[in-house]
Amino acid sequence: MKTEILHNFTSRSRAATADEAQRGKFRSAMDFLIAKRAAQFPDPTEWAELRESGQQIRQRALAYLPKLLVQFEQKAQQNGMTVHWAETPLEANQIIHGILQRQQVRTLIKGKSMVSEEIELNQYLQAHSIQALESDMGEFIVQMADEKPSHIIMPAIHKSKQEIAALFAAEIDDTPYTEDVDELIQIGRQALRQQFFNADAGLSGVNFAIAETGTLCLVENEGNGRLSTSCPRVHIAITGIEKMLENLADLPTLLTLLTRSATGQPITTYVNLISGPRRADEQDGPEEVHIVLLDNGRSQAYADVQLRQTLQCIRCGACMNHCPVYTRIGGHAYGTTYPGPIGSIISPHLLGLAETRDLPSASTLCGACGDVCPVKIPIPELLLRLRVENVTRAGTKDHPAVMRGQGAKYRLSEKLAWQAWSLLNTTPALYLASRRSAAGLRHLIPSVKAWTQARVMPKIAPQSLHELIKAHQEQKS
Ligand code: SF4
Repeated sequence: MKTEILHNFTSRSRAATADEAQRGKFRSAMDFLIAKRAAQFPDPTEWAELRESGQQIRQRALAYLPKLLVQFEQKAQQNGMTVHWAETPLEANQIIHGILQRQQVRTLIKGKSMVSEEIELNQYLQAHSIQALESDMGEFIVQMADEKPSHIIMPAIHKSKQEIAALFAAEIDDTPYTEDVDELIQIGRQALRQQFFNADAGLSGVNFAIAETGTLCLVENEGNGRLSTSCPRVHIAITGIEKMLENLADLPTLLTLLTRSATGQPITTYVNLISGPRRADEQDGPEEVHIVLLDNGRSQAYADVQLRQTLQCIRCGACMNHCPVYTRIGGHAYGTTYPGPIGSIISPHLLGLAETRDLPSASTLCGACGDVCPVKIPIPELLLRLRVENVTRAGTKDHPAVMRGQGAKYRLSEKLAWQAWSLLNTTPALYLASRRSAAGLRHLIPSVKAWTQARVMPKIAPQSLHELIKAHQEQKS
């Protein structure tokens, strides 16, 4: 991810809010998802109990994460899978490239994987003459349009059916223009079908990794995940290290929270549990299964007890759907793999706070994200914490550095301004003097143009509350 792109958050957001058509698409898509999710949780008591359980399962898994990772590795190896550890995106790309080179793979078919977006795997492989073909319909569309996903669950949600129809007609051979959604899906499926059998290797993400059994869990609706993990002779799964669960028994609670929160479905069409390569008595499945466990800044979040809660995330996307900022600016404006509230709290760990310094402020702090999070991540609290880290000068005795890029928004002038403000408001004589001169300073206010261009400045009352009370008391006596 290029730094200059990330630093343009304000201008991208401004452009996005000025695009009425785009805003309309996001508004109606989010309204649809919000209604579907709400219909899945009609009973507030059940919702409260379920998310409490979900939170406990995720917190327990994180509390034992180092142990669970080792246990998972042992179990997965016993199951015949190969486990790889990657600290950085480059290492992950090199590991995957190495596997593909050894297997002389020229085409890789991909199930949906946001972690592969995070490491920019497609671009890396393309530079090394290996074609990576997306098979999730949304990912297929954004790849064809040479764009990035704008939502973690629905990558092409920013596209209208007319745009998709035009894209398919232009890019897929012998395809007529049609706005019929079912026909468009069939066109996409036909284009992809043979690719599953042509590809030498398949790559998938992971929703949960179960340490007890060394099992990978993968949920999806299109069947492309199952095809890309079972048709090619090599399957590579990539996941962040935080996706561990302790036991198989933890899975049902998280699955129901995930699918209901993400797409408003009681369960997805496919739930894949992968526990190794094809065995001698099995008819299908890959000959090799590799798992790449990626850190990429997650250990930094893990080291801080409050920020660790970020890693509870099960990537349902509900916080994005309910966020008034995401709904207006859409996913691309964030400039990061994970947009919306979850992106604003995870991206500073993946990319550094200096590179993502505007994101913790891209929130009204209305609290909707925290209210709908199925694993009770206190997102607004974490956003506030990141804002503090943004303006905290790191490396001093009082503020040991906890994050890469900490202090990115630190300004001595701002610090002095707040110290002056504090002094003013805690010293009665100074406060009274400043209030008397406030009316005289009002001519400075138009210079705060960004604030006043959409608001009317409130008029300063002729008498203050103190003066009114004093006058009232004098009148009474
Ligand atoms: S932070 Fe919570 S609501 Fe947002 S994607 Fe993660 S689990 Fe879902």
